Amino acid sequence: MSNLPSHARVVIIGGGAVGASSLYHLAKAGWTDCVLLEKNELTAGSTWHAAGNVPTFSSSWSIMNMQRYSASLYRDLGALVDYPMNYHVTGSIRLGHSKERLLEFKRVVGMGRYQGMDLDILTPAEMRGRYPFLETHELTGALYDPYDGDIDPAQLTQALAKGARDLGAKIIRFCPVTGARRENDEWVISTPQGEIRCEYVVNAAGYYAREVGKMFGRDVPMMVMSHQYILFDEIPELAAWSKEAGHKLPLLRDVDSSYYLRQEKYGMNLGPYEKNCRAHWVTPDDPMPEDFSFQLFPDDLERLEWYLNDAVERVPILGTAGLSRVINGPIPYAPDGNPLIGPMPGVPNAFEACVFTFGICQAGGAGKVLAEWVTEGQTEWDMWSCDPRRYTDYTDQDYCIAKGMEIYGHEYAMHFPKHYWPAGRGKKLSRIHDRIAALGAQFKPYNGWERAMWYAKPGDDTSEQATQTWGREGPWARRIEEECLAVRDAAGILDLPGFSRFRIKGEGAREWLTGLITGRVPKPGRIGLAYFADDKGRIVTEMSVIAIEEDFFFLITAATAQWHDFEWLQKHRPADAAFTLDDVTANFSCQILTGPKSRDILAEVSDADLSKGWLTHQTAQIAGRYCQLVRVSFAGELGWEIHTKVDDTAAIFDTVWAAGQKHGLKPFGMEALDSLRIEKGYRAWKGDLSTDYTILQGGLERFVDWSKPAFKGKAALEREKQQGVSKRFVTLTVEAGECDAPYMSTLWSNGEVVGETTSGNWGYRVGKSIALGMLRADLAVPGQAIEVEIFGDRFKAIVQPDQPLWDSSNERLRA
Ligand SMILES: Cc1cc2nc3c(=O)[nH]c(=O)nc-3n(C[C@H](O)[C@H](O)[C@H](O)COP(=O)(O)OP(=O)(O)OC[C@H]3O[C@@H](n4cnc5c(N)ncnc54)[C@H](O)[C@@H]3O)c2cc1C
Repeated sequence: MSNLPSHARVVIIGGGAVGASSLYHLAKAGWTDCVLLEKNELTAGSTWHAAGNVPTFSSSWSIMNMQRYSASLYRDLGALVDYPMNYHVTGSIRLGHSKERLLEFKRVVGMGRYQGMDLDILTPAEMRGRYPFLETHELTGALYDPYDGDIDPAQLTQALAKGARDLGAKIIRFCPVTGARRENDEWVISTPQGEIRCEYVVNAAGYYAREVGKMFGRDVPMMVMSHQYILFDEIPELAAWSKEAGHKLPLLRDVDSSYYLRQEKYGMNLGPYEKNCRAHWVTPDDPMPEDFSFQLFPDDLERLEWYLNDAVERVPILGTAGLSRVINGPIPYAPDGNPLIGPMPGVPNAFEACVFTFGICQAGGAGKVLAEWVTEGQTEWDMWSCDPRRYTDYTDQDYCIAKGMEIYGHEYAMHFPKHYWPAGRGKKLSRIHDRIAALGAQFKPYNGWERAMWYAKPGDDTSEQATQTWGREGPWARRIEEECLAVRDAAGILDLPGFSRFRIKGEGAREWLTGLITGRVPKPGRIGLAYFADDKGRIVTEMSVIAIEEDFFFLITAATAQWHDFEWLQKHRPADAAFTLDDVTANFSCQILTGPKSRDILAEVSDADLSKGWLTHQTAQIAGRYCQLVRVSFAGELGWEIHTKVDDTAAIFDTVWAAGQKHGLKPFGMEALDSLRIEKGYRAWKGDLSTDYTILQGGLERFVDWSKPAFKGKAALEREKQQGVSKRFVTLTVEAGECDAPYMSTLWSNGEVVGETTSGNWGYRVGKSIALGMLRADLAVPGQAIEVEIFGDRFKAIVQPDQPLWDSSNERLRA
């Protein structure tokens, strides 16, 4: 007889480490009426054969948060749920071969310390002190992570499962989910054991997530790689050392050679991420099997040879060991190598917690995050880096395969700010792509759209090699400066394809928007910035609102925010609303024309009334085509956004470009725009603006209309205002060295960490390094001197008055 309940509040599909952790955290949150369905035994997917490494290291703040949480959960879990397990905290040594790698380590040490973890940098002598079998040739330094370790993945999963069951949740094994349908606002999940109805569903099917996604009409952006590790026999020298020391060696990661080496009992485990990597189940002659439970791919030793030789040179005792076993298993990859955790795009009451490449070390944190998404609709930490909605419609299989291969082959690579990864490119091209490419544009994709980052001149080094630096200087620096100065002194044009755009039209639209944003909805003919807060008063997003009529608006937002922001609007639109809400991104294009000469240029080519002031908009004609001229400039100069139909992009560009030549018009790119906007203190989404901060912390009170009877987040913001804001958004000028402050550099005062940066760049108009960030409220006073830690070194910084550094009274904007 089937033991499948007829109903549950949540059904989780998949019983690997992540599914089990999700169930455990839901139960811990009091949601015990949850059922996990596993098609085979628990751990049958990637979990059973994982090596079980549990690092805390990440150069991403949110992933580090997740991994730090996992490590601390695993420490206590056995005792907590009464399921003893093998979890060894051995520490790890991450080897660096270059100056840039050492800088990366120093940055992560700073982030780690901010999260309460005592990471450290080791010299070669200190490395040998901790790892006597190590050869230190070619090394510049290492990062020591005392919290790193390894866990038995099956025991971890069983412990989480036991914890969940003890709290009342259910796990049903050998119960594959075969279909799903929506009925009366519920999900009906089909299995061979019958049907189960639920309010919410979670896809935690690991490398089968794409197949499960199809049941919900969702194309999960992912692919599957083959990943191997080699186990070696006992090494007598290692056994003797280990017995005497009373502990294991720390795990070694040679990230520049791309492998890890871990002590496994008295032998070793070598796990490379090979450049000559192999995807699986991506071609018609290699179809994904219906069931691959507890199975492995055949060994592929040839791929490992280079790494084995390198490891033997690094740790010669490895050369004396016999090879005992190779594990070659499927490992799923999303296009950026981060998992998918959060709302399933476009599907109601459905979530994803899948496509984990580091699902053992992330399972603990992922379960917490997933449970928050389901039970509260929001997460404690900003989790955009793992949000499924960061990918939209361009992620076809070719893209996923190309990106998965690229990431796997560069699993430990550094992500330099001026390096634009080459795989999976050209998914969406502007109508003037070829024209701007001919002008020297160096491209990077935003939500699939290729945008110019900077314009190279003949002879500039545009190789990938040249971008391997954290430093400000490089072949791009003079060009970005020239672009910024052209915008300051004459005019610049920037093609912005894929600016996300939503149309809201019909009775009640204004009233609804008024209740949703913190500030005022602009009057017809005007444009305004709107901030959206969640119920905790935290910053969900920022959009420009173009008011066409009393109840007719276009909302414009970042390209990458397309699905995220549209879902926020959809979710809050009343079911009986009389107004319509449409995503019309694909129909329009945008070009920015800005700089003191932009009015003269437009006067020659358009019939617009160019005397209309800042924050207005109008319909006009350029080259006989209609466009919407919007008088704003993210660059902080006189300027207009020219919004056009996609088909008219080229005609309008050609006309403006030709007219602009005698006025000194230059093309400029996103790098220059970032420099220009930071001089104005304009915030960027998911750096300066995120759910890690409230509207008040973000310094956005001038966008709050307290006189409105109600708006989303008002109660929380009123409470915060009464109690006092703990940290505040500030602009800092920094006496920086070769690098400007990257995201999440720590701020220091009197030997204490007192805040963090949210973005940093060089301002070419003001000739200074600038950082935006969050500072303890009592120090957020103009003129206050503090320090910013940038890649391990501290630099003096001064808190600036609460006004733009460039054109502080906005006279140029209003000109
Ligand atoms: C060789 C190798 C070594 C690795 N080493 C590490 C490591 O050291 N550290 C680390 O953090 N990660 C490591 N990983 C990655 C890690 O294994 C995965 O990230 C992790 O196991 C993913 O867990 P999961 O729960 O998301 O998915 P899975 O463990 O794959 O679980 C998904 C479950 O869903 C079930 N399922 C699928 N379809 C259905 C359906 N229709 N109905 C019901 N159930 C279904 C499957 O049977 C499976 O049990 C390694 C991977 C490999 C291949």
